Amino acid sequence: MGPGTVTAARIHKGQLQGRPGEEGSLAFDRFPNVALSKTYNVDHQVTDSAATATAFLCGVKANYGTLGVGPKVKRGDCNAIKTESNITCFAELAQRAGKATGFVTTSRVTHATPAPLYARTADRMWEGDSELPEEAKEGGCVDIAAQLLGPVGSNLNVVMGGGRKFLLPNTEPDPEQSQSRGLREDGRNLVVEWMRDKETRRFQAKYAYDQSSFDSIEPSETDYMLGLFEYSHMKYESERSMEENGEPSLAEMVQKAIQVMQANEKGFFLLVEGARIDHAHHSSTARRALEEVLSMEKAVLAAMQQVNLDETLIVVTADHSHPLTISSYATRGNPILGEYVDFMPYTTLSYANGPGYRSSPRPNLTNVITDTYVYQQASAVPSRIVSHDGTDVGIYATGPMAHLFHSTHEQHYIYHVMSYASCLDVSGKHCQRLRDPAFYRSHSTLDAASINERTLLYGEVHAGAHKVQLWVALHSIIIILFILKL
Ligand SMILES: [Zn+2]
Repeated sequence: MGPGTVTAARIHKGQLQGRPGEEGSLAFDRFPNVALSKTYNVDHQVTDSAATATAFLCGVKANYGTLGVGPKVKRGDCNAIKTESNITCFAELAQRAGKATGFVTTSRVTHATPAPLYARTADRMWEGDSELPEEAKEGGCVDIAAQLLGPVGSNLNVVMGGGRKFLLPNTEPDPEQSQSRGLREDGRNLVVEWMRDKETRRFQAKYAYDQSSFDSIEPSETDYMLGLFEYSHMKYESERSMEENGEPSLAEMVQKAIQVMQANEKGFFLLVEGARIDHAHHSSTARRALEEVLSMEKAVLAAMQQVNLDETLIVVTADHSHPLTISSYATRGNPILGEYVDFMPYTTLSYANGPGYRSSPRPNLTNVITDTYVYQQASAVPSRIVSHDGTDVGIYATGPMAHLFHSTHEQHYIYHVMSYASCLDVSGKHCQRLRDPAFYRSHSTLDAASINERTLLYGEVHAGAHKVQLWVALHSIIIILFILKL
């Protein structure tokens, strides 16, 4: 994960607590297993979020801008989906095994990172039917929102985030933003359809659109939960209203999601996305980005408090990086959002490109306040937005099989570790063997090196667990995957 963002967030956290900051840590800094993930696509050196999400959620690298589909599908090529052999993304894999599945995001629920869990599309921009080009409609391609009612989407136990506009018809006003209407042109109200689908199948289903309706949901009486808290993306944490008509924090959503899914004895899979870190970086507003990371950290802590860590694999990673740097010779404890002075002050944080470009000679920042939520840090190259960054990102893991994150991995390796750890992969041999007490007794101290990346990817798995608790855990393993958009 953009190491610059993680380091800066860690320092900012400490400085908010009145310390110098460098000596502290984020919750996932302390996870026992840390590795790196290579984020390039089949056709791009620097990725977008759709292709990377496809890698870690579906197990294959994909083309830029595509999601839930394999490498034969180029962006915008609706017809290619029909001829491409299907890939199986993680929610479908977990559902087949009877596990609960869900996701929580601060972006629209139809956005690039969560969408590969339930949708297949040649273009991430096809979030609603209003966004589908005529050619794609005629070719039979279905928009992402409609796929929430599809075979995998309709079985997701928890769907929470923003983005009502792609689920509501253009005849219906938004419940919070009455001057806006839904965008669907086909007349469908997918929220109503989602509720009806669960009622038909005799499940207890709940829908929330603000803090008050969120708070009124009792997890023990809920099999399925849909939360759509904004017309588009959810608010930045710094702008979030805590009132009844506001919206829940990421940590609150994670807490409730786990409470709903913990009822499943076979375990669950939850994807959590701190999506607005990315948006803040694109705008070159570093303070917003760092505080979105801290909001994500609270969500990680909330999850850790609610699960048994001996039977829960928690993976924290990023889909890609942003070009944020910590560049100066600042002294210990220098404000991370402040300035460093050589002959003239400049911000310690800066971006390689973006709207914060200021022409030379270097502007004099004396008496300029740089630690506000809207201050745009300097950029070396002028561009409309800060771009993504192609450097490797971190993988932080704890729980059963977390030791398999140990090197510089391809991004799709994350999917294979998750499916291997939870005995969902094609071979599952290690799970059968581990259920045999004789095998288990003789292999209780297997080392991590006996399972290597190559054998995992080709399904020739021949080794077992690394710790005693795994024997118990394999039957009900829980996976929580946190994605920081850094
Ligand atoms: Zn982005």
